[in-house]
Amino acid sequence: MAKYVFAESVRYLKGVGPSRADALSQFGVETYRDLLHYYPRRYLDHSNVSQVIHLDTQGEMVTIIGVVHGVEVVKGRNRQRLEVLIRDDWNGRLKLIWFKGFKWIQKALVPGYRIAFTGEVSRFDKSWTMVHPDFDRLDEGGPQLSTGRITALYPGSTRLQGVGLSSRAFRKIVYQLIQSHGLKFPQVLPEWVEKKHNLLDGRVALRAIHFPKSHEEIEKARYRLKFEEFFFLQLLLHHTKKKRAERTGIRLNGQGVRYRQFINEVLPFELTQGQKDALKTIEEDMLSGYPMYRMLQGDVGCGKTVVAVAALILVADSRFQGVFMAPTEVLAEQQYASLSQYLEPLGIKVGLLIGGQRKRVREQVLAEIASGEIDIVAGTHAVFQEQVKFKKLALAVVDEQHRFGVEQRASLVAKGENPHVLMMSATPIPRSLSLTMYGDLSMTTIRDLPKGRKRIITRLLRESRRSEMEAIVLEQLRQGRQAYIVYPQVDESEKSDLKNAEAGFLAWQRLHQKDKVGLVHGKMKSQEKEAVMARFKSGQVQVLVATTVIEVGVDASEATVIVIEHAERFGLSQLHQLRGRVGRSNHQSYCILMAEWRQSLESKERLEVIERTTDGFEISEADLKLRGAGDLFGTRQSGMPELRIAEIPGDTPILEQAQQAVRDLWERDQDLALPQHQAMHTYFETFILARMEGYARTG
Ligand code: ADP
Ligand code: MG
Repeated sequence: MAKYVFAESVRYLKGVGPSRADALSQFGVETYRDLLHYYPRRYLDHSNVSQVIHLDTQGEMVTIIGVVHGVEVVKGRNRQRLEVLIRDDWNGRLKLIWFKGFKWIQKALVPGYRIAFTGEVSRFDKSWTMVHPDFDRLDEGGPQLSTGRITALYPGSTRLQGVGLSSRAFRKIVYQLIQSHGLKFPQVLPEWVEKKHNLLDGRVALRAIHFPKSHEEIEKARYRLKFEEFFFLQLLLHHTKKKRAERTGIRLNGQGVRYRQFINEVLPFELTQGQKDALKTIEEDMLSGYPMYRMLQGDVGCGKTVVAVAALILVADSRFQGVFMAPTEVLAEQQYASLSQYLEPLGIKVGLLIGGQRKRVREQVLAEIASGEIDIVAGTHAVFQEQVKFKKLALAVVDEQHRFGVEQRASLVAKGENPHVLMMSATPIPRSLSLTMYGDLSMTTIRDLPKGRKRIITRLLRESRRSEMEAIVLEQLRQGRQAYIVYPQVDESEKSDLKNAEAGFLAWQRLHQKDKVGLVHGKMKSQEKEAVMARFKSGQVQVLVATTVIEVGVDASEATVIVIEHAERFGLSQLHQLRGRVGRSNHQSYCILMAEWRQSLESKERLEVIERTTDGFEISEADLKLRGAGDLFGTRQSGMPELRIAEIPGDTPILEQAQQAVRDLWERDQDLALPQHQAMHTYFETFILARMEGYARTG
């Protein structure tokens, strides 16, 4: 049988050859499909090019076409720079400056070449300049590669040139491929889907995205290709969910004696309706005989941890084991402490497994996990390691799940026979993202907060108003409450952060009683950290100066004020998390953001969101808008297929269309067995499923 055309290697395409094939593979381009899906990032519209003589606004993004005149390395005071002088068709001169990558730029910008440069212009030494512009050699001679006035420009074009591939060379290769094989490209979406959703034909879309005839055509092609991307992602999620449901899961025997005792007698409060509903669902899942794969989400402080603890007791009641995974050692230890406090009186044995333990302790814990003596393990990623063998693991609770990689989750799941998995997200997940990333999970959302909680008062203060902040904190301390003073993370490159935190520590020792002020930061040994945290929890320490080690999960209900220093350096969800450290009781709580935000409009926007609302759902939507889905919620490490053209949240309406299409498909043909679905089936198996093994394993 002939090889599937999309899966053919680009190596043997005309104009590629071994060295270019290697270069392409650095960009993830191995097959025809990879090449076709290496979408243009922008288009150069030749009717829309500026002239140097008409430039008048600093910072404006423009495209200038010009001929390279001179290329020169200039010795600056601190470092060298590469200066390239070009002239446009009206004899305007523009200076281009680079501070790195001289070697390949000199190779690419040969005097006499005609090139389009795109970048921000600025006025410098009386002439117009661009620093690190994107550029693209224009096609002259050879085949007519741009079908009209519009030319595709590819992402990473500067890096592409570095490996000897200009956008021009790249276009040529794509052109060859579409010329020679375009008619053989399979139709990956069934006709009924294309019709119903009014989509451009797949082959036309691929041609048009690379060689558009008009802007309208680009729009249609983009819509079609985004739809296709979302479609297969949704299909993958449906498929994964189905596969998981086909396996047998551990069935608890449903005794739940200590579980009821915990809820009715041990807990000092009544569960909220949201907590009760969540627990009921989880209980049903674990009695169903199918493996649970559920995400429990809800705003900070809504009481997810209690729900997880109750679920673990239910597991212990059935004589199975459970594990509670936390993202940091501090949190794992804290979880261990509170689990022990709740569970030991019920006769449930809790163990702790973290990286920094002494060998003897560790071996003992490992032995007791293997023998089944330990019922519930609190731990960090140390639990993922191979030596850890459970006697009969039935439930894995993964707290702050986005902090764990997909590999780690997979190896945890491999430890039992399809244990139930309960993930908890500290920050609510925006709907658009949950559809793309977590569509295969069952979702439970707790929407209420424990009764009597007061809205936290948030204030944004500049340095000049530091004394106001101090007054608020001191008043809370006088009332016997506790305070967090938080500094940005201490890491290797930021020595000054540690200094700041230490200076803050000394300052608070002067402002308040010396021995009631503690310091905790990421550079301390875990035992030292633990000791300080314990003194804070017990109330001996009243003011805790900390770097972001306290970010998630720390629970001290007498803490009523949190001061965030350099708040402009924190992300939105981090700020929300941090604020969630207070307001955990019925006392009025305060969050004070100390910030200088003149520097950046974006950070000002962020701080204003935090000041305006305490609703985690609203905040995470805003976060998604400000940052994009890329590094949010660890999308990159999630193991899901990367989105190459579609964007979240911008393309949510297209996502919803694609989701509808997959639901329609699912009603008719879950096995993709109908003849009209054959092409789609092949494509799905070859490109989506085969590459998703890592992901599929987590189920
Ligand atoms: P989350 O993990 O969702 O941020 P936690 O589980 O840490 O929240 O709970 C926050 C605080 O609220 C804890 O101190 C917890 O003991 C308390 N809490 C949880 N549920 C209730 C409830 N139903 N009523 C009163 N307090 C509660
Ligand atoms: Mg929590």
